[in-house]
Amino acid sequence: MHYFFIEGETLTGGAETALPEKDINHAYRVLRLKAGDEVVVADGLGKARQGRITLSSPQKVLVLLGEEKAPAESPLKVTLFQSLVKGDKMDLIIRQAVELGVYRIVPFITGRSIPQRGRQQDEKKLVRWSSKARSAAAQCQRAFLPTIEPVCAFQSVLSRVAECRSLVPWEEEKAASLGDLLKQPHSEEKAVFLFVGPEGGFARSEIEALVKAGAEKVHLGPRILRSETAAAAVITMVQAAWGDLSGEGECT
Ligand code: SAH
Repeated sequence: MHYFFIEGETLTGGAETALPEKDINHAYRVLRLKAGDEVVVADGLGKARQGRITLSSPQKVLVLLGEEKAPAESPLKVTLFQSLVKGDKMDLIIRQAVELGVYRIVPFITGRSIPQRGRQQDEKKLVRWSSKARSAAAQCQRAFLPTIEPVCAFQSVLSRVAECRSLVPWEEEKAASLGDLLKQPHSEEKAVFLFVGPEGGFARSEIEALVKAGAEKVHLGPRILRSETAAAAVITMVQAAWGDLSGEGECT
């Protein structure tokens, strides 16, 4: 099913709405959608509706909105604080995190992150990452568009640890395992912050600072995972224990 986001609009059943300009070319020329074709339209905030194309032209594509779709959002709001990694690995991390139901992604700089190339590059990257998040959300049919925040410094990440239950996977942690922690009785977790290090890992001083700020360090098993694997693994584990990846019950 073709999936489109129309942000900043209330999607009302029975109303006709136009696809955003940037999607017209894709809908009309690439997908060759025509009147009568079924699509899904989401508002990016968590609501989606079935739709039927009523007009498809090079200038305008109109959709008649129908039934509301069941939400595909986890009851657990997962924020992934992801240290910057090399090349286009961040694209992969974003795609997988969005598919696994992450609520928000905060890229941040650690001592071992690749050097930054200035504000303009950062802005370009943010646009690119947001577009990756949008296509991943459309592909997995999420009506909510996860936010990608601007790259921030380690110090500002530290100041956010106290806002929420915070877990930091660290390959040198020997005692506390994430698996054990997730099996413990816990107060209904509604949100969790996850902190994943870069290719070279967190420096010990960074781990100490995170722990001092209130984060719990955990290991993810005996193998050292790449940053992109660790991010997907830790999100999967918390979503399975506290969120909606359990595969239990009915799936609408
Ligand atoms: N310091 C390492 C590798 C870092 S792996 C080295 O260069 O040898 C990148 C990130 O993935 C780490 O910072 C950590 O957050 C996470 N990670 C990878 N494997 C892990 C494991 N077995 N347990 C916990 N965290 C892990």
